[in-house]
Amino acid sequence: MTSPSLYWLRNDLRLTDNAALTAAAAAQGQVIFLYVLDDETPGDWRLGGASRWWLHKSLEALSATAPLVLRRGAADKVIADVLTESGAAAVHFTRDYAPWSGALEQRVKAACEAAGASCHRYGGFLLQEPETIRNGSGEPYRVYTPFSKACFAAGEPRPLKPVPKFSGWTGKLKSDRLAGWGLLPTKPDWAKAMAAHWTPGEAGAAARLKDFIADGLEHYADERDRPDRDVTSRLSPYLHFGEISPAQCWHAVRAAQLAAGGKLDKAAEKFLKEVLWREFSYHLLHHWPTLPEKPFRPEFSAFPWSKNPKGLKAWEMGRTGYPIVDAGMRELWVTGIMHNRVRMIAASFLIKDLLIPWQDGERWFWDTLVDADIASNAASWQWVAGCGADAAPYFRIFNPVLQGEKFDTAGTYVRKWLPELARLPDEFVHRPWEAPALVLKAAGVELGRNYPHPVVDHAKARDRALAALKETKGIQ
Ligand SMILES: Cc1cc2nc3c(=O)[nH]c(=O)nc-3n(C[C@H](O)[C@H](O)[C@H](O)COP(=O)(O)OP(=O)(O)OC[C@H]3O[C@@H](n4cnc5c(N)ncnc54)[C@H](O)[C@@H]3O)c2cc1C
Repeated sequence: MTSPSLYWLRNDLRLTDNAALTAAAAAQGQVIFLYVLDDETPGDWRLGGASRWWLHKSLEALSATAPLVLRRGAADKVIADVLTESGAAAVHFTRDYAPWSGALEQRVKAACEAAGASCHRYGGFLLQEPETIRNGSGEPYRVYTPFSKACFAAGEPRPLKPVPKFSGWTGKLKSDRLAGWGLLPTKPDWAKAMAAHWTPGEAGAAARLKDFIADGLEHYADERDRPDRDVTSRLSPYLHFGEISPAQCWHAVRAAQLAAGGKLDKAAEKFLKEVLWREFSYHLLHHWPTLPEKPFRPEFSAFPWSKNPKGLKAWEMGRTGYPIVDAGMRELWVTGIMHNRVRMIAASFLIKDLLIPWQDGERWFWDTLVDADIASNAASWQWVAGCGADAAPYFRIFNPVLQGEKFDTAGTYVRKWLPELARLPDEFVHRPWEAPALVLKAAGVELGRNYPHPVVDHAKARDRALAALKETKGIQ
């Protein structure tokens, strides 16, 4: 009988367009699907709460189509054990780009050598391997636009791989119970509402992509910045967990564009460019692995951040008194996601109005986002802070009132997430503290009681941030 192959599942929780699984299946023998919950290797960056919820649901969905072996521990040690227990002849896995993953993959390779098994790594989480895109001088890119042009010039992604035929492992191997991993919250069950917003897993991802192409794509170019419209794809958690590949999204959008005979050109280009922001984030992380912790521009290390635990708490709880910020933070808490425009406004508020280090916001997002992603989260926080590669200039400070009025014109988004403000007239919904007492009373708003006064005065906070900037040598 042919020896089994070990397929080590990581952020590639799908059967379609999966090079590692395709190769494991092609080896003829049975395939052992192994998922390792590894809280040891990533250290402080072990999965956050919302990601753990998503992972549970995703593994549950996958176990309906593939027999999973679940183990907990350092992945290389677990793989060494499973090789000994099963006699597998080969290990196949998808490459991961987190700062700790390169060394882990080397240890897995060594474990394979020690067990006499071959070890195979495949791409697929990204469109391009981060080392393959280089500028004219052979250096990695630091600026998004030339990077994206180089990606477009590299041509369309490879063709997709169909679901391979495989026979699952029928031998004996110890497996943990998914429920025993405690990935779901218990008391309080803060994830209760998340189930209504998401269907984690490969089928959920495919359905989301289909819906987006049918309903969102045509409005994407013009309305993607509007949190009050449902036009963005919401594919980010599916992409993060690999329930869909970026190549699948790319080809599906290209096919829709082609079928529309030119009508979707602008929308499709815009969408593909956003997918390339994800690639760019990974490009940066690969070449600058300290991205999640240290400013890309080192001069920002001397920035005079303030210690402001009360401000941080108010921000986390969506109680800053600035409706667009608070609506975003409440959307995040309830659904595990926040619209991109609002992420930018909320992040700018934390960093620039409250002068709280971007890393504190990054950590909160890491714990609460279902799409928490080591590269996109770090690169985006650094972008807003102004200390990243190709970042927004530090002196660009979002005005939360004007941003709210521009992108949530009728206050629909704010009213949805802050029901206490629902009855305020449009002109005050983004600036309740300016509403006359009678208007507040008629709307049932009592500032300081059922909705907070602003925690800072934005105009003063802006001046303070600009002064702090001036103080820091080398930033301008
Ligand atoms: C402070 C901050 C933190 C962020 N943290 C994360 C994070 O942890 N994980 C994450 O996936 N995205 C993060 N983003 C980027 C972006 O907000 C989300 O990718 C996007 O909102 C996801 O919604 P969507 O799938 O509807 O996006 P769409 O607009 O439909 O875009 C399609 C896909 O492109 C990618 N994408 C779009 N915008 C970006 C971007 N700016 N950077 C990187 N990739 C992008 C995502 O994979 C997304 O699913 C962050 C942005 C900010 C400002």
